[in-house]
Formats: sequence, C-alpha cells, structure tokens
Amino acid sequence: MTYIKDLKNFTIKGAEKIFNNELMKKIRRVVKNYKLIENGDVISVALSGGKDSLLTLYALKNLQNEINFKLNAIFIDEGIKNYRKNALKYLRKHVKKLEVELIKKSFKEEFGFKVDEIKDYFDTPCIPCGIFRRYLLNKTAYEVGASKLATGHNLDDEIQSFLMSLVRGDTFRFYKFGPKLDRIHPKLIPRIKPLWEVSEKEVIDWVVKNDIEVQMERCPYSKYSFRFKLMNFLNEIEKIEPGTKENIMKSFKKTFLSLKKKDVKVVECKECFWPSSNELCKVCELKKYLRNITQQF
Ligand code: SF4
Ligand code: ZN
Repeated sequence: MTYIKDLKNFTIKGAEKIFNNELMKKIRRVVKNYKLIENGDVISVALSGGKDSLLTLYALKNLQNEINFKLNAIFIDEGIKNYRKNALKYLRKHVKKLEVELIKKSFKEEFGFKVDEIKDYFDTPCIPCGIFRRYLLNKTAYEVGASKLATGHNLDDEIQSFLMSLVRGDTFRFYKFGPKLDRIHPKLIPRIKPLWEVSEKEVIDWVVKNDIEVQMERCPYSKYSFRFKLMNFLNEIEKIEPGTKENIMKSFKKTFLSLKKKDVKVVECKECFWPSSNELCKVCELKKYLRNITQQF
C-alpha cells in the first residue's frame, strides 16, 4: 500500500514538474521573443491579489536566475468591501517567501475615497475603478523607479480586450495591445504582459497543481462589467466550438501587428502633470465630476 501511495505521489509530483516547466517555457518564450525584460530593468509587478498577477510574480522571480533585473510588487486597495482583505493576507505570505518588496497603495489615501463610496455616481463601478487604478499603478511604478510595469493579463484577457474594442468600434485602441507597450512619454511606464500566451485554464491549473493559496473569488462588481459578460460568452462558444479563442488570437496578432505603429499623442495633464491624451487627464476629469455632484473629494 505504501509503495502504491508513494508511487502515486511520485507520479503527481512528476506531472506537476512537467506542467510547471512547460508553463515556464511558454512565459520565457514571450519574454525573450518580445524583449519584455532586459538586463538592468527594474520591474514592478501589479499584484491584484488574484491568480494571474501572482503567477506573473513567481515567473519573473524565476527569470531573475537568467536575466539581471530588479523586482518589486505593487498592490492597490480600491476600497471594495470584503474583497481585498483575504487577497492581501495571501500576498503577504507569497512576497515574504519570494523575498520581493511589496508596495501598498490605496484609493482612500491617494484620492480620498473608496470605490464603494463613489460607485453610485457611475454606470458601473468598473469605470472609476479602472481609471483611478491605472493612474495610481503608473504613478507608483514611476515613483519607485520602475522601468517597466508587469501585469497579469493572460491570453483570455487579451482576446476579451480585443473583442471589446472591436464591438465598441474603438479600433484606435489596438495600439495598446500586444505583450509590450513602448514608452511613449517619460512619465508613462511601459507595460509588459508575460502571460500573454498563457490561457486562463493554464493559470487555474497552476494554482491547483501547486496548491497555491490565492484569492479565487471575483470582485463583487465584476458581474456589471462588459468584460465579464464577454468572458462568459466566449467560454460558452469555446465549449461548442473548441479552438475559437485560439483563432481569435491568430486574427488579433495579424491585426495588431499591422496597426501598432500609429502615432499616439500624449501630453501632460494641466492639473496633475501626469501623462494624458487630453489637456485634462481622465482622473482629473472624474475628480472634477465627483466634486461637482458631491461637493466633496
Ligand atoms: Fe474594479 Fe470592476 Fe475590477 Fe471590481 S471588477 S476590481 S470594480 S474594475
Ligand atoms: Zn490629471
């Protein structure tokens, strides 16, 4: 019996090792092919508390054995009740184990409000949440001296973003896709997506096979987002027509590669002096809107 148990454990451990090696091979290929990380880089990982950004952190830690770069992690608490607490508890354990510095920021400290306090002034909480979060991530990465900001966007996220832009007719946004964004303004930290070719399913398998402690619950507001609806729709189609996601990605790669080089105008916001595509950045615009209707913030 012991022999069978040992053999079973050995097989499982062996299978995990093969899976982890294959996954790492895929991530390494994207990092190398698209030159996501170079010697001397300082990489901040945007840790959301979920599985994707955690895998990104583990993978980059592993890549430090091959490329000479510095690594830290940024965690942002948007102020959504009962959502980020557990995430942070797990993240603290992971960064300690990996010996990576964790920089924690919150909407409350930075902007004076939580998403929960302002969500009712918008069609969905995701509108202010996404805008303020992107801004704070970039600002923090800049302040800690990062040369690149790594996000946990996986293959499924990228396909969703592509279809969202297509459905909305925002094809000018295609330049924002791909595994690496060029530096288009000195204060805009280029983003990299090491999981660009890793599917959502593979990330879940990584969590399960390695017994990773991580928050798996989605944000309570995610059900209001267009992305969430599109994600469910794509998963349904994939069940009926396996390979659909892969085919979308193939078309996407051809499309974004031909459109990527478009000129993008980036200036400094006249109020906060952070990069913006208009005179007033989205964050200052939303703050102004909130001040007008609430007489606060
Ligand atoms: Fe923010 Fe929406 Fe994401 Fe929740 S689902 S964290 S509200 S962007
Ligand atoms: Zn601004």
